[in-house]
Amino acid sequence: NASIDQIDPEIASVLDQELDRQRGTLEMIASENFVPTAVLQAQGSVLTNKYAEGYPGRRYYGGCEAVDIAENLAIDRAKSLFGAEYANVQPHSGASANAAVMHAFARAGDGLLGLSLAHGGHLTHGMKINFSGRLYEVSAYEVDPETYRVDMDKVREQALASRPKVIVAGWSAYPRQLDFAAFREIADEVGAALWVDMAHFAGLVAAGLHPNPVPHADVVSSTVHKTIGGPRSGFILSRDPEHAKKLNSAVFPGQQGGPLMHVVAAKAVAFKLAGTEEFKERQERTVEGAKILAERLLESDVAEAGVSVLTGGTDVHLTLVDLRNSALDGQQAEDLLHEVGITVNRNAVPFDPRPPMVTSGLRIGTPALATRGFGANEFTEVADIIAESLKPSPDVEALKARVAKLTDDFPLYEGLNQY
Ligand code: PLP
Repeated sequence: NASIDQIDPEIASVLDQELDRQRGTLEMIASENFVPTAVLQAQGSVLTNKYAEGYPGRRYYGGCEAVDIAENLAIDRAKSLFGAEYANVQPHSGASANAAVMHAFARAGDGLLGLSLAHGGHLTHGMKINFSGRLYEVSAYEVDPETYRVDMDKVREQALASRPKVIVAGWSAYPRQLDFAAFREIADEVGAALWVDMAHFAGLVAAGLHPNPVPHADVVSSTVHKTIGGPRSGFILSRDPEHAKKLNSAVFPGQQGGPLMHVVAAKAVAFKLAGTEEFKERQERTVEGAKILAERLLESDVAEAGVSVLTGGTDVHLTLVDLRNSALDGQQAEDLLHEVGITVNRNAVPFDPRPPMVTSGLRIGTPALATRGFGANEFTEVADIIAESLKPSPDVEALKARVAKLTDDFPLYEGLNQY
């Protein structure tokens, strides 16, 4: 029972380096968060040893009495958090949840209509070399070239033209809310199933700060690790218990073998926490922080350097910075912020003239910093640091010092012993 630093000092050092990095930088990748210690404990537990193919009470392995409790708790908590009649908490990730959804609702060759990847959609919504693009007949809707918002008349036109089997509403990079009721109408009109992928904004839904897709969609998929701030994984919900059988069999044995029971237990912990007042307050700071970021960037004189904000603001946990008129491309801006101590990802903006590896945008999210405790004052300071960084000839040393002040004032994982 030697500990990891004795058995494998190289990997122990990776754990230390990563903890130092997370503590010493400002994490603003919109899809990341900091899990609570209770989630780390569940994920680092002996539950990882257990095979539990099947579902609670109907397993293909013996000895599942303890893990059954964990899975039932995760299922019940997910259902009650989102007002669903059905939940499957076994998907290993958001992508495997999405593969299972398509497996349940379509056959190879059927049509899938989703938001184009270049306009903020996800790989699993029909990207050419993803399973979704290879197995299904994909058509895509785009954002409006004037408003940069999804135009429901265009979605309808596209749906009428392509007559898909499944319509997916959801995104990885879009700063506004989708109109689920309008998607429902279109799906009904063309006889398609409506699938909502709320991977990004699920935490906001749980907190009541974003419309809940569950009453509108046939099926809803999500990750647990973005705004929810739980373990890296996925889950599936439905308002309709009639879909239970096909969804369960699409996850197992359709897509996966044994569920990761340590992760399932960690999901139960995350869903419990997501029902608390503290969680709601954190999501409020998350959205407020993203709005502050958008407003400060628009008001700042960095606008003179061609830096803008897509759609002129945000309703969610992220802001999309538009660099199409800036001398900096997405890669350069990402590198500059990295130097200052802020981690973001470059992101193509719709109608991006630069190639996908370079891009003309930044996706900047506030969930991790809100979890760290940041409120309006700190997000204002962060916005100003970002604006200063993107101006010509920034004073990198001074900006680094401002980042260090924030990371020092908001310690992360205090006293955590990783091994
Ligand atoms: N769906 C959406 C909308 C996402 O943004 C993502 C992740 O970026 C996923 C699914 C996939 O999640 P995972 O990375 O866990 O496979």
